[in-house]
Amino acid sequence: MRNAYMTDELEAIYDQTVEFVTNEVLPHGAGWEEAGKVPRDVLHRMGALGMFGLRVPEEHGGLGLGMLASATFSEALGASTFAGFDVTVLVHTDMAGPHLLNSGSPEQHAEWVPKMLSGEAILSIGVSEPDAGSDVAGIRSSAVKDGDGWRINGRKMFITNAVYGDLTIVAARTDPDNKYGITMFLVPAGTEGFEVATKLNKHGWLCSDTAELVLDDVWVPDDHVLGTVHRGFYETMKNFQNERMVLVGMGLGAAQAAIDMTNAYTQERQAFGGHLFDLGAIRQRMAMNQAKIDAVRASMYHAAWMHDAGQDNVKAMSGVKAWGCEVVNQVMYDCVQFHGGMGYMRESAIERMYRDARILPIGGGATEVMLEEVAKRSYVQ
Ligand SMILES: Cc1cc2nc3c(=O)[nH]c(=O)nc-3n(C[C@H](O)[C@H](O)[C@H](O)COP(=O)(O)OP(=O)(O)OC[C@H]3O[C@@H](n4cnc5c(N)ncnc54)[C@H](O)[C@@H]3O)c2cc1C
Repeated sequence: MRNAYMTDELEAIYDQTVEFVTNEVLPHGAGWEEAGKVPRDVLHRMGALGMFGLRVPEEHGGLGLGMLASATFSEALGASTFAGFDVTVLVHTDMAGPHLLNSGSPEQHAEWVPKMLSGEAILSIGVSEPDAGSDVAGIRSSAVKDGDGWRINGRKMFITNAVYGDLTIVAARTDPDNKYGITMFLVPAGTEGFEVATKLNKHGWLCSDTAELVLDDVWVPDDHVLGTVHRGFYETMKNFQNERMVLVGMGLGAAQAAIDMTNAYTQERQAFGGHLFDLGAIRQRMAMNQAKIDAVRASMYHAAWMHDAGQDNVKAMSGVKAWGCEVVNQVMYDCVQFHGGMGYMRESAIERMYRDARILPIGGGATEVMLEEVAKRSYVQ
């Protein structure tokens, strides 16, 4: 077993996912980075293999597994070394998907969950805005009641999967007198007034599509309200621990791949009458990196286990999001360093992985915001 929290089923998920990314992503990812998108047929194949249904309840055709399954899946995806691919998948399954699963009505489930499982519909989650990211309660997009539906106006920023995706779950303010008076809406691509303003050009995650969206008098019927009117802020918060965790998980998987490839490279590379890896400074730094990544892994799985055991894991998961993502970046830095000039070349995987990792301490809860979550739970009574 890979760790104390594994079961035979989770081991099988890990192995299947690593096999998939090794055969279907690694050989093609460079082309996807150039194209700025992950081909839909790859996502369809993942759907056909059941990979989008780990968290989907059995009555809807999924496996109905808990957070440990998402931990396992996200870590295994990280072995792809193409984090843009990993995040494309994880936004669908673990960042947008949970909103639909947790808050959707039976009719919404019947319409969208089968398409989500197969990859026919790729999901995105639209919370961040040009003027509100960390401060979710500061969003300005608004929705007002209009007949038997709602009219939505506003802008959304940095929305993953929203250029080529099919359904965006949009957060909009519905109670102007209450800063937490937010409602979530299902907004299908192609809805009149719902447009991609810009396909954003990024530092990393190049094969992940990221949109700035405009909602210009978008009208959706009442049955597109996801969950309870005015309660979207609280419903969204419930999904945050999972979102945080899969970002750590994909970073962890990538960092392990980076360590493995750097150890292999330095054991091959000749210098000073031996191999680079035989130099104490290098072998010891890489050993420390391995120890740190092992500690992140243990903490992440433990925080996931807490959730599955019915315990509050906000402090634990926020903590591991904060330091785990920083550790992943430190590891990537060292791995570039020990690849020397080659690590700075666009042709080397580690150059891409280094760029890809930089967003992890910013997105899905910046390090400082995570540390506040830990700190406010650290007052001694
Ligand atoms: C590639 C990419 C993909 C994304 N995908 C999505 C998506 O699919 N859906 C979505 O809704 N959003 C998405 N985001 C948005 C992302 O979650 C936000 O960028 C993130 O929450 C930070 O918000 P911000 O960029 O507005 O930074 P700000 O909120 O302006 O913060 C800037 C910086 O200030 C610091 N800071 C912020 N708050 C505090 C605080 N309380 N205390 C101390 N320091 C603080 C942090 O260092 C932070 O990085 C994505 C972003 C990127 C770059």
